[in-house]
Amino acid sequence: MSLVNTKEMFEKAYIKRYAVGAFNVCNMEIVQGISQACRELNSPVIFQVSPGAGKYAGHEYLKSILEVAVEENNIEAALHLDHGNSFELCKKCIDMGFTSVMIDGSSLPFEENVSLTSRVVDYASRRDVSVEGELGRLQGIEDHVECSDERSIFTDPMQVKEFVEKTGVNSLAIAIGTSHGVNKFGVDSVPSLRFDILEEIENLMPGFPIVLHGASSVNENTVKELHRYGIDIKNAKGVPEKMLKKAASMSVCKINIDSDLRLSITLAIRKFMDENKTNFDPRGYLGCARTAVCELVKNKILNVLGSVS
Ligand SMILES: [Zn+2]
Repeated sequence: MSLVNTKEMFEKAYIKRYAVGAFNVCNMEIVQGISQACRELNSPVIFQVSPGAGKYAGHEYLKSILEVAVEENNIEAALHLDHGNSFELCKKCIDMGFTSVMIDGSSLPFEENVSLTSRVVDYASRRDVSVEGELGRLQGIEDHVECSDERSIFTDPMQVKEFVEKTGVNSLAIAIGTSHGVNKFGVDSVPSLRFDILEEIENLMPGFPIVLHGASSVNENTVKELHRYGIDIKNAKGVPEKMLKKAASMSVCKINIDSDLRLSITLAIRKFMDENKTNFDPRGYLGCARTAVCELVKNKILNVLGSVS
């Protein structure tokens, strides 16, 4: 199978009330682990490359690895640019063969976000590439937003309709309480998502696919184990899986998962290093990380996304 765009993927996900997992990739082992899980469960998948991952591994390298993985495993997959921060980067990825791009103009004033996003949609749609926009600000490590007024963080449903109509985006990332990184909620606060906003958007725009960023669950046992193996992260808290499952059964068609992959990979490697003091073969610990990625993705598909066909 070759790489596809996300339009039909989301149509199917919307009707069948599940979400497609969008996993961040930056090397071969991660791609292989994800691909194997999706092949075993016959699930569609979105591989996404952030600007940072593109800088680390090179967009061309990642694209080539992905093409082999998709062909070999015969999976339905899209190659997506995560958090595209300029028209030029989106264009570069589209020209290179990415099948979907995100243009993140969420930090811009509304009208500027509309005009940047429209420009990308115009270029992408003529090449059969899908575009994800973003409206509303997510908190977290990626943008260091500090905002005490919650209305300026959560997405305004009335603006969504206007934004989608003006830009023609194929999907939209919204802010309903998720955040980037592993400290998603305060120490004493109870995790919660604004399902009312999600419902309101669905009523205004039935059939339109919504995207959730910053949607890792930060498994408590994984964090405990990581502490045992010497990693120092504090107040780690994610979005409970049952909340994400509920979102996937609503209009959310794409759920982004990055931090959970990072945590699983780091735990697998730390544990392997600890238990195999004489090993100095990278295939040992990287192979172990690949298996951990595969297990994590299978659990996500079965327990959160519901994307088993
Ligand atoms: Zn994001």
